[in-house]
Amino acid sequence: MSFESTKAASRWVTRVIPVILAVAVGYATYVTVARVCVDYLIHDRQQNGSAVTVLVLYFLFMFLMIATYLRTIVTINTDPGLVPLGPLAVSRRGSRYGSDKAHRADDLEGQPYFMAPDSNPDSPGLEQFYTKDVFICETDGRPKWCSECCNWKPDRAHHSSELNRCVLRMDHYCPWAGGMVGENSFKFFVQFTTYTACYCGIVLGAAGSSLTKQMNSGDGVDGFLVGALGLGGFFGLFTFMMTITSLRYVLLNMTNVDLLGSRTKVYQLAVRIPRGSEGTDSYHVINYPLARPGSSYSTNQHNNGNGAVARVNSPNLGREARDSLAHRTFAILRTEAGENPWDLGYWENWKEVMGTNLIDWLFPIRRSPCTKHDRNESFYRMGKIVNEVRVRHGLAQEPAAGPDGLEMR
Ligand SMILES: [Zn+2]
Repeated sequence: MSFESTKAASRWVTRVIPVILAVAVGYATYVTVARVCVDYLIHDRQQNGSAVTVLVLYFLFMFLMIATYLRTIVTINTDPGLVPLGPLAVSRRGSRYGSDKAHRADDLEGQPYFMAPDSNPDSPGLEQFYTKDVFICETDGRPKWCSECCNWKPDRAHHSSELNRCVLRMDHYCPWAGGMVGENSFKFFVQFTTYTACYCGIVLGAAGSSLTKQMNSGDGVDGFLVGALGLGGFFGLFTFMMTITSLRYVLLNMTNVDLLGSRTKVYQLAVRIPRGSEGTDSYHVINYPLARPGSSYSTNQHNNGNGAVARVNSPNLGREARDSLAHRTFAILRTEAGENPWDLGYWENWKEVMGTNLIDWLFPIRRSPCTKHDRNESFYRMGKIVNEVRVRHGLAQEPAAGPDGLEMR
């Protein structure tokens, strides 16, 4: 299946699914309210208390399910958490958010679209990485590069072939919600599957217990209840499994993408170390900003002991002197297989996604705290693993201040 036809198919599915869901909810409402509560519990058995309990629970979870579904759909379709395109991708695609048809035409004419990482030392966007203390990097110490978006990939961002864009903390493409679940929508998605599983549980309980009593009393079986059991069983099992899976991701601070091959996955981290430190047998270093060709510090290996690397002796050296003060050194370290740098422990992992209080957990109002990106240390909070990796490589636990004290902000 070609890329375009996959997109067309998923667009078609996206339009049909809400109709199917609406029909299913309409049917479940008719059966639960009219057949179970009014006809059976109130008229036949005079169990008004049971009927009211079922109705309250039914409409409570229906309301929460619909609210979280709408919040998920709206977030996915209006702000899925896209990484900006690089300048080259913008010009190739015609517009910043335009279709990708232009570059596919290029492909047909034999021009490869694959773009190698930008070799310009001043590549736009690089500073977002080296102004942090830790980021995910390649073996050469530069961040990961997306050849489709022509831009550097922030930690945990992945390229979505459905959107043809990189998505922050990408999780999975959800046909039920018609889009890519990522960091902006994951919390709402978890709430949606949880409430839907509860809602199906109410329908199953109400229809199932009424059906059992009808069969025991020999009243004859209501076919509508059997239909509700079938629907509730199907959607209930499906959303229950999704809920268990999603809650596991929340508690482990993982995404669907992180989990792929997670037992053998090794992350490479660029970890800030005192300015000018040199590499050792166990790691290489990289200095940022990257050296321009011909620059006097292009060897990336220098340290005169007091942190003042270059003095302004001549006008020509002015730029280098200024650069050297903004200069940061990173060690390129590797985790061991299966280590998750973002694992903060169950409780902190939960709060990073679900929020810090009961209102956040229950209602689809505020986004996950991990979407704020207001931290200087790293794109997402990182766990103890990072310090363990530092120590394993013979480094101090925390990023140390430079000898001149200027390095720490
Ligand atoms: Zn991309």
